[in-house]
Amino acid sequence: MFGGTFDPVHNGHLSAGLSAIRQLNLDQIRLIPVCQQPLKRSAPVTSANDRVAMLELATEDQPAFVVDLREIDRGGLSYTADTIAELRMEFLGDELFLLLGSDAAKDFSRWRDTSEIERDVQLVILTRPGSETMGPILSGTYLEVPLVDVSSSMIRTAVRRGGVIDEMVPASVASYIHDRGLYQSDI
Ligand code: ATP
Repeated sequence: MFGGTFDPVHNGHLSAGLSAIRQLNLDQIRLIPVCQQPLKRSAPVTSANDRVAMLELATEDQPAFVVDLREIDRGGLSYTADTIAELRMEFLGDELFLLLGSDAAKDFSRWRDTSEIERDVQLVILTRPGSETMGPILSGTYLEVPLVDVSSSMIRTAVRRGGVIDEMVPASVASYIHDRGLYQSDI
């Protein structure tokens, strides 16, 4: 499981996911876009339709990535513990891993039901080559993934300033952003 706002999905998400698949020998990565992030309630985000469309485009030729719409379909605030409880029932007997990038790992102690999460899944904390381990140590697997220095906020800022984002997102996602006129204003 790899959750996020994905506003938009970018090459950092994809390359970290691919690296986790290879290193942990995973069957699939479920990319799970949030409906509403409980810790960023007031942050405006692009519509679920657009975020999902970009995820579908970014992963269309990569069958190991599955776009999982359960948090969008559930609506309201998205709690990872609820998502894990559902997936636990669907994938009975399977080993489940939750991928956490550095921001998510830093915030983890503020999430709801962390002990249930830690009981039900293995935490995989994505680290960058040369990066320091973050704050209070979270127990889990620390996985070094290639450094792709990009974030969704960098992309939104670049688009607003008329910059080029071709190196940061798959070409299909760059075209979608352009065609739909996304991120032109400070959302
Ligand atoms: P924003 O810039 O808006 O905060 P973001 O780029 O961090 O967005 P999210 O959708 O919030 O994207 O992140 C989803 C998950 O991906 C989080 O766990 C985050 O830490 C992780 N992540 C984000 N960017 C990278 C990257 N370049 N490499 C590896 N993981 C990343």
